[in-house]
Amino acid sequence: MTVLIGGIAELRESLASMRTTSHTSGSIGLVPTMGALHAGHARLLEQARRECHSVVASIFINPLQFDRDDDLKQYPRMLERDVELCSTHGVDLVFAPTAGEMYPTAPLCTVEVGPLGDHLCGRYRPGHFRGVATVVLKLLEIVQPDAAYFGEKDAQQLAIVRRLVADFNVPVTIVGVPTVREKDGLAVSSRNSRLSPAERALAPSLYQALAEAARLIASGVDDVDVIKDRASKQVPRDPAVRLEYLEIVDPEDMQPVPRITGAVCVAAAMWVGSTRLIDNISC
Ligand code: AMP
Repeated sequence: MTVLIGGIAELRESLASMRTTSHTSGSIGLVPTMGALHAGHARLLEQARRECHSVVASIFINPLQFDRDDDLKQYPRMLERDVELCSTHGVDLVFAPTAGEMYPTAPLCTVEVGPLGDHLCGRYRPGHFRGVATVVLKLLEIVQPDAAYFGEKDAQQLAIVRRLVADFNVPVTIVGVPTVREKDGLAVSSRNSRLSPAERALAPSLYQALAEAARLIASGVDDVDVIKDRASKQVPRDPAVRLEYLEIVDPEDMQPVPRITGAVCVAAAMWVGSTRLIDNISC
């Protein structure tokens, strides 16, 4: 049975009894989300369910990580349905706090992510990763899981979380989970529901651009400018579409590479109408 909890103190009590009753094999897995759960989140929940004794899913639309008020206001909210989905995936606890529970006062201490946030989304969404790193550290402190599951879809977020737990000695294993895609390659996202049918038809070009970059890299092209130029051409010239960035970075420090000499992450963000989509591919 899935239990829904909104309070930090109540959650800690439940977790404490979980730890004592299951102390022999009692690993706890945390899946942090902002709700509006879809097949991508389900993949994370399934993996946590397979690997951990108890699974906690958090559902919290973190105001600290939104750089645009309209994005925060429009973010889909469907807690009842989300709890049902968690229940079908065998989640033990859903932690869904209010903003007031998580931030009784505006936090004075936040986590700076340094150069990890200088490029890709960090460049275009000021303060976003400070908000992400701060809420992830809070969730890890509150739940104290053995493992926490994050999607590779948000590659810069995953790199930052890995570095966060290393820099702050947080005793947790960070597990990266491969991106779930629609049949046409579009990464599943809560924001896809905002696309009109015409916009939805344009959206897969983001993945096509990344796939083209991956093809070129696999074929031995090592000139980053050539790869970026050819990949970007996959995005149609259409007034509804704007490629915000397409960058090739080191998968750990998220810094642009001057040339392809080893493993890289090709990451991109694209606006389709008023919806911003992101995706990446590891090569
Ligand atoms: P969100 O609710 O968008 O903050 O996402 C919660 C977690 O689900 C993050 O770790 C995301 O990277 C992950 N996630 C979102 N979409 C996908 C997807 N299509 N495939 C795999 N993981 C995803």
